[in-house]
Amino acid sequence: MPQDYFAPDNPYIIIQQHFKGWVIETESDFFNDIEFVMMDYRTQWKDNACFTYVLPISPCKALVEFTFFTPHLVDDSVYDQMLNQYIDAILKPGKYKITEIEKGVIPMSNFPFHKYHTPHITKVGTGGGWVKPSSGYSFKNAERFAQKIISNIKAKRIPSHGIAKSRFRKYDTLFLDILKTQNYLGEKLFTEMYSNCPAHLIFKFLDEQTTLTEDLKVVSAFAPLPFLKSLSRNIL
Ligand SMILES: Cc1cc2nc3c(=O)[nH]c(=O)nc-3n(C[C@H](O)[C@H](O)[C@H](O)COP(=O)(O)OP(=O)(O)OC[C@H]3O[C@@H](n4cnc5c(N)ncnc54)[C@H](O)[C@@H]3O)c2cc1C
Repeated sequence: MPQDYFAPDNPYIIIQQHFKGWVIETESDFFNDIEFVMMDYRTQWKDNACFTYVLPISPCKALVEFTFFTPHLVDDSVYDQMLNQYIDAILKPGKYKITEIEKGVIPMSNFPFHKYHTPHITKVGTGGGWVKPSSGYSFKNAERFAQKIISNIKAKRIPSHGIAKSRFRKYDTLFLDILKTQNYLGEKLFTEMYSNCPAHLIFKFLDEQTTLTEDLKVVSAFAPLPFLKSLSRNIL
């Protein structure tokens, strides 16, 4: 990672995506393993942007994960408390055992990682800016950018050429700014997006493959005020 990222006077927005998940196994078949729960906001930690997701692996096995999008981390016991609460009060799978535990922290930031490439050194992964700032996803970027680097090298261009996409970084900045200044709005923003936009368009947008017209469809899913305020703070 560039050292400037860790500098106390780093002016860019940093939100942490931090989470803990349990793989649980139920005594009898319980899960529908062709469906998943993307973001369930029914159990909340204070007024933080946080949610649970459930990824079934088989009818009696699933990953249940509690995730925060917040500027600060929490004590390990908070994740356990929230996982217990979700499983006992919402999921109610009957008797179960925890077979695996995973934990992680992913930086979500508008830090200009792309400025730290040089003609001879191309940074990859988190330090190369491959983590999408507003979602924390990096796997798809890793696939796409690795291919882009190879094609750039073959075409004798600078390897990082064309990797940073400015218009999506601007959308990400607005979203991160709202999470930083009004973290409690997280639930409202995601609810608006998932309620007012078809799923295929949301995923295409998150993959940064949408056209400008499609971007506008996604943007119009949100109440404008928080974004207009964020726009005035960051871009104008
Ligand atoms: C539990 C968990 C679940 C996740 N789920 C998803 C998901 O579903 N989708 C998604 O898009 N992202 C997910 N992520 C995030 C994703 O894994 C990271 O964003 C991504 O791996 C970051 O890539 P990276 O190359 O920066 O780091 P890494 O993938 O961590 O790679 C760094 C590599 O460098 C090696 N290394 C470190 N130090 C040294 C050293 N000194 N010398 C030599 N080698 C070294 C490490 O062993 C490692 O192999 C998840 C992360 C976690 C922890």
